[in-house]
Amino acid sequence: MLDPFSKKIFHSAHTAVANGGRGPLILMYHGTPATKSPASSIYSVTANNFQQQLDLLKNNGWTTKCIADLPNIDSFPDKTVILTFDDGYLDNYERAYLPLLERDMTATWFIVTQVIGKQADWLERTSGETAMLDTEQLITMAASGMEIGSHTMSHAKLSDISDAKQQSEIIDSKQQLESLLNRPVKSFAYPYGLYNDSSLKYVQQAGYQFACSVRPGWFNNEKNPLLLRRICINLDDSLSTFARKLAFADCDVNWKKMGNYGINRIRSKFSGKI
Ligand SMILES: [Zn+2]
Repeated sequence: MLDPFSKKIFHSAHTAVANGGRGPLILMYHGTPATKSPASSIYSVTANNFQQQLDLLKNNGWTTKCIADLPNIDSFPDKTVILTFDDGYLDNYERAYLPLLERDMTATWFIVTQVIGKQADWLERTSGETAMLDTEQLITMAASGMEIGSHTMSHAKLSDISDAKQQSEIIDSKQQLESLLNRPVKSFAYPYGLYNDSSLKYVQQAGYQFACSVRPGWFNNEKNPLLLRRICINLDDSLSTFARKLAFADCDVNWKKMGNYGINRIRSKFSGKI
């Protein structure tokens, strides 16, 4: 259930420029554990919350697309959202991929190639929630229409490593995924959202068409297709918070900010009348 404000603002959301929208919304997910536990990352979303989010989108006429669909942006329906999953957690298979498939929805997964079928070894602690998707699962997902993109070889902090290492992280990971899946890999996501000029250069040289950052915001506020903005969806987001994140293309939609939004709307109404 949505609170009345979130409901109203969500229903008035548009993505098509012709309808006053500012381009498709791109959401960023990570793990999808069965339930919340002390091991759960704040960046994960529980299975139940995720399904509620999918149903909210589906029941309100939203369409899902992949990052690689962006060249056809002009034909996207008015309410379009692109779901992306970073890292490639094993729990995504049953609790994100299958629920998406059931609803005839799609998404883009950004995979760390060195840990396929292993553990997310860049995290401080490993647990059942840090196990990663395996090769067979990725092949199945790609075959059923999900997009698989690269998230480097080792989840490297690209801005901290040498150009030679960046080159390998960006280019080799693409080649590995392409030979594994036997299809082109067109999209990339910067681990931790970190990049520098060399990263952008190698992403372009490697032949990626699109790359995702972790900065929130409207799609058409960013002209560079290698710096797409994304809105992060987190563990403690209520369904109303999720709805407001979409309506404002922002990760921070607390009530104080919403109050300011309301006051500004009233102010602008008054100033229009004077
Ligand atoms: Zn990541």
